[in-house]
Amino acid sequence: MNRSYVALGSNLGDREQHIDDALIELALLAHYGTVRCSPFYETDPMGPQNQPAYVNAVCVFDTTLDPFELLAELQRIESIQGRQRGRERWSSRPLDLDLLLYGQRRIVTERLTVPHVGIAERSFVLQPLADLDPGLVIPGVGAVTDLLPRCQQFGIRRLHLRDEKSIHRD
Ligand code: ATP
Ligand code: MG
Ligand code: MG
Repeated sequence: MNRSYVALGSNLGDREQHIDDALIELALLAHYGTVRCSPFYETDPMGPQNQPAYVNAVCVFDTTLDPFELLAELQRIESIQGRQRGRERWSSRPLDLDLLLYGQRRIVTERLTVPHVGIAERSFVLQPLADLDPGLVIPGVGAVTDLLPRCQQFGIRRLHLRDEKSIHRD
């Protein structure tokens, strides 16, 4: 059993709905059927600035899938929510699901890098990680609460009425 943290982001269509739908899909594959999700944040886009603001969150769940199987599932969920692959990096998308952490594992392959390459530099990832788990230490990188004040900020603002919650499959 491995504890996985997944970053969710959307800046096209009904952004919050895309993330809510993704959380239901993730609960279907989570081992105990339960996913815990951080508060939602609205954030300035990374990369090209001529695109809408993002909604971002991070969720955590336990899984028996191996990390490559989990990545394939994340990409499947992105696709069913209209994500087109092969577009410019960091361009608008209805859904981005990135595997941030997989237990204590460190993986560097062409298809998959864990911890995620951007994890230490992005406030829209570190803030929700710290909300979920203030004591979290990123293997080989450091404590989220140490990294957060030093990273790039992306003007993140917490969305009203989108506090931390748990999603459980029926
Ligand atoms: P970034 O990864 O910088 O946030 P992005 O999310 O826009 O950028 P994508 O287009 O979603 O990038 O993914 C590009 C490729 O990254 C994927 O095809 C996937 O194989 C690879 N990848 C490597 N490590 C990871 C990871 N930890 N989580 C998700 N995808 C990953
Ligand atoms: Mg991403
Ligand atoms: Mg991605």
